[in-house]
Amino acid sequence: MEALLGNERLKKGLAAAFAADRLSHCYLIAGPAGSGKRSLARILAAAMECTAGSGRPCGVCLQCRKVLDNVHPDVITVDDPTKKTVTVDLVRKARADVYIKPNEGLRKIYVFPRAAEMNAAAQNALLKVIEEPPDYAAFLLLTEAAERLLPTIRSRAVPLQLAPLSEAEGLSELAKRFPDRSRDALAEVWSRSEGWLGRAVQLLGEGESLAPETRSFADCFARRDKLGLTELLVPLERRKREELIPLLNQWVELLSGALAVRAGQTGRWEAAERIGRSRTSAACLRALESLRRATALLQGNISPGAVCGALQVWLDRNE
Ligand SMILES: [Zn+2]
Repeated sequence: MEALLGNERLKKGLAAAFAADRLSHCYLIAGPAGSGKRSLARILAAAMECTAGSGRPCGVCLQCRKVLDNVHPDVITVDDPTKKTVTVDLVRKARADVYIKPNEGLRKIYVFPRAAEMNAAAQNALLKVIEEPPDYAAFLLLTEAAERLLPTIRSRAVPLQLAPLSEAEGLSELAKRFPDRSRDALAEVWSRSEGWLGRAVQLLGEGESLAPETRSFADCFARRDKLGLTELLVPLERRKREELIPLLNQWVELLSGALAVRAGQTGRWEAAERIGRSRTSAACLRALESLRRATALLQGNISPGAVCGALQVWLDRNE
């Protein structure tokens, strides 16, 4: 249970339910990206499978460990991250599987990491089984947008809404995870995280790995800021080829990340998530193509000045 920080009220309620053996067979775990939805789903699944007599999830029995290491055969993720939505076929497959008894666990638990990406047909297929499931089956629906689920599904699920952490909780956890950062640097990032620890961690990781020009590119591209892009590219004309190629490669990686976000995966960078949320896949692909062309020209010995100029025209035309 300590794996989920803050959220004391929610944890107290769940601990009471665990102790009294009053677990529901369907939970709706809601909260934005980086709020701890997956951590909470793992805790719930472990509590359902745990073989300890009390204090579930104990975190040390074989069943708990398998769940926490994501290798339990009876905890099944229903998602195909390469697809934009969670298809009705995927849900039907899970529904057929529900009637096969658990392999080794006490329960068979179906985790839907992108529950709101199910269309109406998929949700209706799910509804049939959550209305009358076998007694060993459980469903954990994770979402950033609970309102997109059918009221008939929501009414059958116990809602678990994740809450942001307090500044004190967040800063103390960040200080543990990033002991080399100054208090001020952590406080600055925390102020941009809206209280979501996962987001703050992502922002801190990003500061290490993304060039400042890449962050500017992400800002401008996400906002469709043409002037900003020009202002970013003009000074780059004077950069050396060997500096420019890795930079453009990072932009390519960023846009690939944004496309992965659009396909429902979790982004490695907050900047990629921002682009993925604000731009279409087609726009990302067009920019990606332009950047690849620019890199190829640089590798073909065309001058940085000419390449940055061409890139400006292409990105501008893409908009
Ligand atoms: Zn256990």
